[in-house]
Amino acid sequence: MALLEINNVTKRFGGFTAIHQVNLSVVEGSTHAIIGPNGAGKTTLFNLVSGLITPDEGSVEFRGRPMVRMKAHEIVKIGMSRSFQRVNVFSGRSCMENVQVALIANAGLHYHPFRDASRLFLREAAELLAMVNLTEETARRAGELAYGKQKQLELAVALAAEPKLLLLDEPTAGMSITETRSSIRLIKDIVARKGLTLLFTEHDMEVVFGIASTISVLHHGKIIATGTPEEVRHNEQVKRIYLGKD
Ligand code: ADP
Ligand code: MG
Repeated sequence: MALLEINNVTKRFGGFTAIHQVNLSVVEGSTHAIIGPNGAGKTTLFNLVSGLITPDEGSVEFRGRPMVRMKAHEIVKIGMSRSFQRVNVFSGRSCMENVQVALIANAGLHYHPFRDASRLFLREAAELLAMVNLTEETARRAGELAYGKQKQLELAVALAAEPKLLLLDEPTAGMSITETRSSIRLIKDIVARKGLTLLFTEHDMEVVFGIASTISVLHHGKIIATGTPEEVRHNEQVKRIYLGKD
């Protein structure tokens, strides 16, 4: 069953068409990668899916519900959670507080986020920090963490929303090879353990082929191929345009 359906979606910025008549189904339980070089439209597609921007044409349906005019926080409420290409955490706050605040928001509680956070969701936040291997960093300020660890924290924050569908925009961007490898292992493990559906964009082919069950190739705002890693790897057009080799 498709968890997410992108139907004939087009997005223009002025005269420039960033996303052109894109159709895409994200099947429940799949690990679906969107690949394509810088400027292909990956982040724009994510922004459309997560409700940050609205399509000029077409529609997005999540769990059978049209997302037109749905607010970003409403989309999170129905089970979609995302991280951004650039790190997006409260750098002056501890790891614990970052996750607590996300849990408070998820519970729909109207607490003053930082004044009251100290007492709330301590156990749940600790569990999420453990899940992303940040137990030792619990009390450290997010801004002091190495880049890779900030991304792990961001993942914990995204998981605090208890998503069905997790959207990760270039989760390994800016990471060293070592950070990339451990990060991918972590993401794979969490997705399997929590039974999540994952939609992610990535420029690193090793990462993509190591984790994706389905790959869609975006080229100048159009999807030119969707299939298993093997199918995409052997697609002539994809080889010509992106991989540059076998
Ligand atoms: P990717 O994530 O694949 O690198 P993006 O979705 O960020 O690509 O960008 C796709 C294209 O759309 C690029 O040419 C980019 O310059 C353009 N673009 C993205 N966002 C905007 C915007 N808000 N206004 C104008 N052009 C944009
Ligand atoms: Mg991008």
